[in-house]
Amino acid sequence: MTAGGERRAPAADSAHLPVAGAPQVRRAAARLIRQDGRAFAGALALNVLAAAAGLIGPWLVGRIVNTVGAGGGVDAVDRYALVILMCALAQMLLGRYARLIGHRFGERTSARIREQLVDRALALPASAVERAGTGDLTARGTSDVTAVSTTLRDAGPDVFIAAAQVLFIVGAVFALDPLLGGCGVLGLSGIWFATRWYLRRAPAAYLAEGEANSVLAEVLSATAAGARTVEAFGLQERRVAVCRTAVERARRARLRTLSLRTVLFPAVEVSYVVPVVAVLLVGGLLSADAGGGAAGPGAVSLGTVVSCALYLTQLSHPLDAVLLWVEQLQSSEASFARVEGLGLAPRLPRYEGPTPSDDRIEVARVSYAYDSGRAAPRDVLRGVDLTVRPGERLAVVGPSGAGKSTLGRLLAGVDRPRAGSVTVGTVPVADLGPDELRRQVVLVTQEHHVFIDTVRDNLLIAAPAATDEEIRAALDAVGADWIDELPEGLDTELGAGEVRVDGARAQQLALARVVLADPHTLILDEATALLDPATARHAERALAAVLEGRTVIAIAHRLDTARDADRVAVMDDGRLTELGTHDALVAAGGPYAELWRSWHGEPSRPPEPPEPQESSEPSRPAAT
Ligand code: ADP
Repeated sequence: MTAGGERRAPAADSAHLPVAGAPQVRRAAARLIRQDGRAFAGALALNVLAAAAGLIGPWLVGRIVNTVGAGGGVDAVDRYALVILMCALAQMLLGRYARLIGHRFGERTSARIREQLVDRALALPASAVERAGTGDLTARGTSDVTAVSTTLRDAGPDVFIAAAQVLFIVGAVFALDPLLGGCGVLGLSGIWFATRWYLRRAPAAYLAEGEANSVLAEVLSATAAGARTVEAFGLQERRVAVCRTAVERARRARLRTLSLRTVLFPAVEVSYVVPVVAVLLVGGLLSADAGGGAAGPGAVSLGTVVSCALYLTQLSHPLDAVLLWVEQLQSSEASFARVEGLGLAPRLPRYEGPTPSDDRIEVARVSYAYDSGRAAPRDVLRGVDLTVRPGERLAVVGPSGAGKSTLGRLLAGVDRPRAGSVTVGTVPVADLGPDELRRQVVLVTQEHHVFIDTVRDNLLIAAPAATDEEIRAALDAVGADWIDELPEGLDTELGAGEVRVDGARAQQLALARVVLADPHTLILDEATALLDPATARHAERALAAVLEGRTVIAIAHRLDTARDADRVAVMDDGRLTELGTHDALVAAGGPYAELWRSWHGEPSRPPEPPEPQESSEPSRPAAT
């Protein structure tokens, strides 16, 4: 097929996978907290206790100052110092256990998120993944989940502890002296404004960065996957230009988030000093008025000023922690929105309707557009009508881009028509759930996936209840005798270590899956196109065993497949232009006859009358 690699790349504005909105993200976060509520509450309680223990030290330092000022002895100072030491120890221990519980909560919750993501990804219809591009799904499953996990494991507990400390410290300053507390909070207002400014801009910037990275991953992986096609068609410059645009977009998005931080961080650094200076100034004045002692309304003791200043100096530590993680929190909120968004994507239907009444496949007035979401969709199938008789072998032929593969996808229920219907036994094929669909129709292409798993599990995908005997029989049927030589038989891990699974073996595994699924109809699309001629012959023997007794719709790239078929459907520009037996179509002298002659290497000539079938078949070597 020409330009196959290029064609499969999704259109620029193809349907993206959805991103969750803020309320959905909040609900999902609350649900995750509820699922491990005890650990969350435990971490919360320990954090509060640790923060409370941390408050006692500065307060006692103030008491020491006052005691010394009042001429107190060394004994009293020693007692205070001992209590300060014990409080610091208690804070350390409580903080350590709070962190431990918090981290465990984070690990368990990220495991839940990963499991949910896998479930949701598996529930996506193949067409939704294809349209959105695998890069987006990969980015959500890797960098986005990692960002969320880091937040839950590290950033979450740290920010939580820091927030509790900030709250307690500010509360303590107010409790010591409301006026000094007011000065401190006023001094902190710079941080508030700078952070607000940042938070207003950051979510959109981080979302844009995540999206730009997804597009970049998609463009790079599509280019790498289609490298041969790119080379074959001399598309290097075009692909380089596309990659450059994606890199440039990712760079701009990254610069935007970096520039936001270059404003936030300096503003915050300056803001730390302001409350301490304000408290020392105001406290110094009030304390001077009082002559250093605690006398008169509004006057404060030197000890109180020292305690307040110490508290406010202590603020820089938790606030630093918050700001250090604020970027992580922002980006992980955007990541969480993307991870949660998968839950909003269309899911594979759970089929509960009637089972197909028979094996007859009907295509009625079918139109299909890959860009059906657009205002003016471009139909690549138009008004196709076709009835496939049970047990028949139908070949679909036509020039590249005629719509053959698209028709194959609709017949296999991968996509649903924009207009008209594709039914099996009167039930729409695309409505069937995966289990029911597998029993009816299976699409065999040249893409065979072998999972890093045992031979058995690779095959059970097609028939979860199959016994070892059935699996062996299926492997026998497709001639996969190499299985017998594997060190651990069906328990051998494929795709890992020594066991090589080349294209031909991967295809045998795929065909063995078809045998196990046992559908009545097979759609073959380029099933053996990528294999070398020797392997292809071997594969075709395996294929022949699989086709036995089934309805077969073969998208034919070599016209001898068409010649051997019961009927041939000719497609051109999205329409079914001819339908009949090979001989009848050759005799009719229409587009198929033309195609046949040009493929067969004969000069164009007027149609000949049909001859008896046995003698009319032109001979041609099987391998091309
Ligand atoms: P054939 O199998 O006959 O070569 P296809 O069914 O693959 O034809 O393609 C029919 C038309 O649909 C072509 O114009 C092709 O460019 C377009 N097309 C195929 N796949 C996609 C896709 N994934 N997204 C958008 N357009 C596509």
